[in-house]
Amino acid sequence: MNNLAERVACLCCDKYDSLKKTGKPKENEWTVLAGIVLKDSTQTLSVISLATGTKCLSGTELMDVEKWECGSRLSDSHAEVLARRAFQRYLYNQLDLVLRNKSSNIFEHNESRKIILKENVSFHYFCSQTPCGDCSIFPQTDDELVPTDESCVKRRRIDIGEARGACTLTSNVASRESNTYVDIHRTGAKCVSTEKEQDLYHPGLNYHVIGPLRIKPGRGDRTLSMSCSDKLAKWNAIGIQGALLSRLVPPIRIDTICIGGQCPFSEAAMRRGVHERFADVAHCPDIVQSEKGFAHRKQTTRTQPCPSSIIWCAVPGRQLEVSVDGRKQGVTKKKARGNYLTISRRELFSTFLKIVDEFDKIENGEKNHPKKITYYHAKQSSTTYQRSWQKLKFGSFQAWPDKPTHLQEFVLF
Ligand SMILES: [Zn+2]
Repeated sequence: MNNLAERVACLCCDKYDSLKKTGKPKENEWTVLAGIVLKDSTQTLSVISLATGTKCLSGTELMDVEKWECGSRLSDSHAEVLARRAFQRYLYNQLDLVLRNKSSNIFEHNESRKIILKENVSFHYFCSQTPCGDCSIFPQTDDELVPTDESCVKRRRIDIGEARGACTLTSNVASRESNTYVDIHRTGAKCVSTEKEQDLYHPGLNYHVIGPLRIKPGRGDRTLSMSCSDKLAKWNAIGIQGALLSRLVPPIRIDTICIGGQCPFSEAAMRRGVHERFADVAHCPDIVQSEKGFAHRKQTTRTQPCPSSIIWCAVPGRQLEVSVDGRKQGVTKKKARGNYLTISRRELFSTFLKIVDEFDKIENGEKNHPKKITYYHAKQSSTTYQRSWQKLKFGSFQAWPDKPTHLQEFVLF
């Protein structure tokens, strides 16, 4: 048993239990819980962000936005992604503290006034189930197999090539010969259409190919969101802070990924999905499954995905929000204007601009950020981050599609 993973899982589940009922699954519903736990310089563990969610808007739903609505609606409400957005909100708050010379749990200035992470601070990621996409593709264990003739159940061999593209799941049991049904866990995430390798959809082990980048499953038509395995891989490679925060803070990496108990899990598939399939990704977080399982996970009594999400973050002020369809719960499209989730692109961008103002005032004695800058251009101005991302895109992440720029070309004022 991994002690740290167990504590991370318990802290996230306990925090979830302590939150009010609104937005949580009904009796027959399930959801996914994700969270980020901070181990601070005194080695104390605390939950700093937490979210639930299973939904993702389709490309059509996303395109159907008016100009003022750009950046205000969440396209991807999988728990893993919402917990990361809540984490970004936490980072802005910590940044604000350090800029005002107040004590921050995670940041400090070095001698040359650069903002750095405090020594011995680390971040640990929890997800109540294996993330969708590549990490979810692995053979079922013997007790999950459905033998057609019990006398013929044989062990399979899993042969996973090290390099991306050479990844294959093979079996030394020809399923028809042995009369044994050998199958894999499947993911609803489909390969990006420009990937050379595409799923074969053959029965058994050859249903999926492993390695390619995948698009999240969504309602009806295709979504524009990448699978959680791919997003985790990107965060692992260039940091979980994202483009905007990279202007102000160093890359922040996750040290542990802990998957909740009582759900299908393969350490090998997780490692492959998060870093091994990318030849140019060096960071390897610890990957573990906890014994602790999330109470509202998918199970025989909980068969419907919960449509709402809860999002919580350790900041002063509004900590808890509930969202449905990528908007604040109870807010219709008509009333959406000006009533945004704090973790929407628009609100995080607004926080970013305020902090940049503060930063310039303190560091350079001036206040001069261009208010008319678009979200897209603000992200592009993170040159170091963009350089790392372009390098990765040129190498392992070639098929990663660019987000339509019109969805990112909004200004706040
Ligand atoms: Zn997902």
